[in-house]
Amino acid sequence: MSASPDTDNRIRHLLGLDALPRPQLEALLRRAQAFAEGEQAPQALAGVAVCTLFFEPSTRTRLSFQLAAQRLGAHVLGFDASTSSTTKGETDLDTFRNIEAMGVRGFVVRHKGDGAVAALAQAARPGTAVLNAGDGRSHHPTQGLLDMLTLRQAKGEDFSKLKVVIVGDVKHSRVARSDLHALRTLGCSEMRVCGPASLLPDDDTLHGCFVTHDFDAALEGVDAIFMLRLQRERMSEGLVESLDDYHRDYGLTSARLRRAAPDAIVMHPGPMNRGVEITDEVADGPQSRVLRQVANGVAVRMAALEALLAAA
Ligand code: ASP
Repeated sequence: MSASPDTDNRIRHLLGLDALPRPQLEALLRRAQAFAEGEQAPQALAGVAVCTLFFEPSTRTRLSFQLAAQRLGAHVLGFDASTSSTTKGETDLDTFRNIEAMGVRGFVVRHKGDGAVAALAQAARPGTAVLNAGDGRSHHPTQGLLDMLTLRQAKGEDFSKLKVVIVGDVKHSRVARSDLHALRTLGCSEMRVCGPASLLPDDDTLHGCFVTHDFDAALEGVDAIFMLRLQRERMSEGLVESLDDYHRDYGLTSARLRRAAPDAIVMHPGPMNRGVEITDEVADGPQSRVLRQVANGVAVRMAALEALLAAA
């Protein structure tokens, strides 16, 4: 199970959004909104040690989790696989257990392997909480939450009349999967997914979505556009002809953006490939919410850490 409530209905680990019930998801968003508006909880994690255990690169997720934990009063330990004993052959599980033995209770884990974070959570002692900061192509729950918070701030809490489109390399995107889980849970009525056939998944990820390869058509009248990075590090073969072709067919330009609703917002989880999936003009333009997403990331991660680790 991805979000595993324990006996007092508290979430024990946050591994994905697929199993997180709507009331708990909405409670996290409400708390995150309060943090975004300046609410403070400087002692919530006093005396708790949190480790950001990253086996894959990160800028936004790692730093915002660290800042979030610090704002809640936790001790924060960083871990970088490239300078750790994993380079001497220590297994991920031994690494985890050794840090846990030091008394660390919160683990924020990123890993390239699908299911690798859940495997560590399974091995965790009672009282240890694991938060998934992105595993393979599978889950990125706090990104999904921060995207929902950003959408709510722009469009209100009722998603039942919203039209959204997710665009690009959905196949390799844990962000798209987490966004889709959350959008479904929150009752979004129209989810469109657009990308080249080679970059769309052929499993049940797109269940309930309108799927098209025509970006111009997909943009008609949408309220929010979720752009995705072309994730070349996860591609085993040449799935895209050329970056120029990709930009021509799936790059979000100002001219294309005019097809969306006039007040549509544009999101991107970062890092952006400027000039490939998005132009500078759109990324830095008035409809972009890219930096708002980043700011919301701190608030969402405070809410998640507090929910899992603060004393009841
Ligand atoms: N930063 C996000 C992730 O880790 C999106 C991306 O890398 O494209 O999944």
